[in-house]
Amino acid sequence: MTATTPIASDSSASGATASGSGPAAANGVARSSQELIRAEETSLAHNYHPLPVVVAHAEGSWVRDVEGRRYLDMLAGYSALNFGHRHPALIEAAHRQLDQLTLTSRAFHNDRLAGFAEGVAELTGLSMVLPMNTGAEAVESAIKVARKWAYEVKGVAPDQATIVVAADNFHGRTTTIVGFSTDPVARDGFGPFAPGFRVVPYNDLAALEAAVDETTAAVLIEPIQGEAGVVIPDDGYLRGVRELTRRTGTLFIADEIQSGLGRTGTTLAVEHESVMPDVLLLGKALGGGIVPVSAVVADRAVLGVLRPGEHGSTFGGNPLAAAVGSAVVELLRTGEFQRRARELGEVLRDGLAALTGKGVVGYRCRGLWAGVDVDPALGTGREVSERLMAEGILVKDTHGSTIRLAPPLTITREELEGALAALEKVLG
Ligand SMILES: *Cc1c(COP(=O)(O)O)cnc(C)c1O
Repeated sequence: MTATTPIASDSSASGATASGSGPAAANGVARSSQELIRAEETSLAHNYHPLPVVVAHAEGSWVRDVEGRRYLDMLAGYSALNFGHRHPALIEAAHRQLDQLTLTSRAFHNDRLAGFAEGVAELTGLSMVLPMNTGAEAVESAIKVARKWAYEVKGVAPDQATIVVAADNFHGRTTTIVGFSTDPVARDGFGPFAPGFRVVPYNDLAALEAAVDETTAAVLIEPIQGEAGVVIPDDGYLRGVRELTRRTGTLFIADEIQSGLGRTGTTLAVEHESVMPDVLLLGKALGGGIVPVSAVVADRAVLGVLRPGEHGSTFGGNPLAAAVGSAVVELLRTGEFQRRARELGEVLRDGLAALTGKGVVGYRCRGLWAGVDVDPALGTGREVSERLMAEGILVKDTHGSTIRLAPPLTITREELEGALAALEKVLG
């Protein structure tokens, strides 16, 4: 691995000596990146294939490895770090809460949860919140709520409820969820799977219409498919889903776990088509890059079907999560991050347009979020990611020769232009 130099000046971090503590130590012996990677190979399940960078410190849009090399983070934890690493307001909220109360379980009330629920409700325009932890848990919870709603409100016959999902979806990794994935890598070897799901092509209203019937509890889709390569549906698709679900008495569940909370230039990606789903799923950035926080958000007519004992989570809605989540809501209330995503999204789009034909064969971009298809002759997405890493830029490939760009919404124009220049260099 080659050493890197900063691609832009960064006033918030001052190079290799800033951490004070030096490389990671075990039993007092400092271990290098190479040693730590080798140790992981032996003692860690191989369910990921990370880039060979071992991060030890981060601030804002930048991370630093154990040798002190600096990298611009152009992935931002798959949008879990929309506000950058260790945003001061979020860190302060977490510190304050650590000194007060961290966990009660829902057996008791805690003094942070009401404010969190009110904040999320106000931010989204829906009235009720079911707090969970991970994104997959929010999706699972929404499936349960939709089925219960189907039996109690829509009148579907017992155990007959169906949920319509889209091909190339990504909703998480639990057995029920991978059961309706169309990605063989995610599914194969993990069956048998839960019944009750119908898969239709994404961005195809006719196929959706044909799949929805009197047994359908919900249509569950991502407003933009992130894992699939930042696939943006045609204008009118989300409005069509809204119209169809309303007409057929079916719930519209929008998984905004990756697309939501400022990423696309609006608080929610569904705002680009001015539609409001019945159920919103939030996660990733809701935890401010500090703790896992997710939520199912809906009106009382839907979430009201849950009664005490029917669903729960030991950690869901814990006071630390609620304090951080409330601070996230406060950041989003200012509109600053949405505006940055909108304005810098233009810079990203223009940069990718300029690279088209020069190593880029296609791209999809909304706000500060892009899927970039690289000419396969120039390498796989993985190879391009490794070359960018050598230039001090961290990105992640998705499938084949596609890379995903999702920088923190705190990134500056100069940093973003530096990343685009590095992309031009590695494709040249
Ligand atoms: C990441 C993601 C999930 C799953 O979230 P986890 O916290 O990893 O369980 C679900 N849906 C979408 C759209 C996601 O991007």
